[in-house]
Formats: sequence, C-alpha cells, structure tokens
Amino acid sequence: STASKTAIVTGSTSGIGLGVAEALAAGGCNVVLNAFTDDPADHALASALAARHGVEAAYVCADMAVPEACRALVEETARRFGGVDILVNNAGIQHVAPVEAFPTDRWNAILAINLSSAFHTIAAAIPHMKRAGWGRIVNIASAHGLRASPFKAAYVAAKHGVVGLTKTVALELADDRITCNAICPGYVLTPLVEAQIPDQMKVHGMDRDTVVREVMLARQPTRTFVTVDEVGGFVTFLCSDHAAQITGAALPMDGGWTAQ
Ligand code: NAD
Repeated sequence: STASKTAIVTGSTSGIGLGVAEALAAGGCNVVLNAFTDDPADHALASALAARHGVEAAYVCADMAVPEACRALVEETARRFGGVDILVNNAGIQHVAPVEAFPTDRWNAILAINLSSAFHTIAAAIPHMKRAGWGRIVNIASAHGLRASPFKAAYVAAKHGVVGLTKTVALELADDRITCNAICPGYVLTPLVEAQIPDQMKVHGMDRDTVVREVMLARQPTRTFVTVDEVGGFVTFLCSDHAAQITGAALPMDGGWTAQ
C-alpha cells in the first residue's frame, strides 16, 4: 500500500499534479509538492495537504527545465524523508504553432520540461528505490503520447518520447520490484481548461454544453472530460501492490480517444 511511503509529484501546485498529490496523501503517503515558484502560497498548499490527511508534506521549488534542479528535487526529498518510493512526473507545458513557425525556445522548453525532466528525476530516484527494494514511477503522458494533432509538434514529440522512456526504464527495472508506467489522459477538466470554456462559448456562439461536446471533446467519444480525481485514483492504483505486474505500459484514460 502507499501508506507511509514517500512520493514526489512534479508540477503539483495546480491541476492534475495537485489532484494526484491529494489522492496519494489520502492513501497515507507523505508527499513532496513541486513547481518552479517559491511563494508562501506554495508552502501553504503543502501544509494544508498534510493537515487534511495526517501525513507529512513539503513544497520543494525546482524548475523542471533545469537538469540539476530535477536531480536536486529528488535528493532533497530523500534527505528530508529518508527515501523516494513513488515518483510522478507530471510537470508539463504546451505551445501551439505550425511547425515551420514553431519558436525554437518553446520547442526547447517543452522538450526540457515535458520529457527531459522525467529522465533526470528517474535517474536520480532509481538508486533510492533500489535501496528500498520497491518503487513506482508514473509518468503523466497524454493521448498525444499515442496520437498526433496538428500544431502541437513539440508536445506530441515530447509525449511520444515519454512513452518510449517509460518502456525502456520498465525493462531495466523489471527485476527490481520497481514499475514504470505512463498514463495517457484525454482532455482533463483542470482549472486551466475550465477557464477556456467561456472564451470558447463566445468564439463559437454556443452554450457550455454544446461547446464542450462539439468543440472541446470532439475527439473524445464519451464527450465527457476526464477528472483530476480519476487520474489521482489511477495513479494510486498503479502505486499499489495489485499493480505489481503492470509495467512498461502506456495506459490510455481518454474516453475512447485512442480506440479510434
Ligand atoms: P497545469 O498547468 O494545471 O499544471 C502544471 C503544473 O506544472 C503546475 O503546477 C505548474 O506550476 C507546473 N510547472 C510548469 N512548468 C514547470 C517547471 N518548469 N518546473 C516545475 N513545475 C512546472 O496543467 P495540467 O493540465 O494539470 O497538466 C499536468 C500534466 O498533465 C502535463 O504534463 C500535461 O501535459 C498533462 N496532460 C494534461 C491534460 C489536460 O487536458 N489538462 C491532458 C493530458 C495530459
């Protein structure tokens, strides 16, 4: 079980990362929250999480665009909590542009944050997991780790890369009681997505229900958003002992998107 284990969730001050942290803490896991800011509000988020669930929690600032910072996040966690049992690579950004006009700095940032950060945190976490004789690595990829959409060259390339990294790491650790999997969500209703709905309603002259069903969820057959809570539940399951034989998998959670 996840009780009294230590988990790191990268990019976890909002959206999916925060939901995953919440779910792991609810299972009795000690949690390290992370983002690239260092505001009192970030640390308050960790205190509130700890108080709500009766676990230890901390906020550790680390910019996932910077390799040394990715590795330092893992070492700082091991120093403060005595180990790293669960690693959830969730930090991610997006930029949308035609490939011939795609800004090089956005390409580099997306590859660094969405893909390379996972390489660095995984590399740093493995020795700690091997020492404990148990570990769980969950990478939050995307349906775009399995399918493409136009104008998302960097995001799609990075998320496909995460799926490849996941498979390779799983094979290398198959004999160490450490699993590595990718979750591939479709459209998830995060605060960021929620905030786009009023604009989309205006642009398309549609009511909320229609814009969600016909525009935003056009490729998601259930026409229903995945929820942050559902992703949290899936991560918790992958971290449980019942999931010991699930490794190297890219697991869709997409309302049927990738069945098409
Ligand atoms: P979000 O913007 O709500 O949260 C992203 C988090 O990452 C924030 O806490 C942010 O502070 C942090 N972050 C951004 N840049 C960082 C950096 N350089 N260093 C450290 N932290 C950084 O986004 P979200 O929708 O919750 O997405 C989380 C993950 O899920 C991403 O990898 C995203 O690609 C993936 N995903 C999202 C959806 C969706 O529909 N929302 C679907 C599939 C996959």
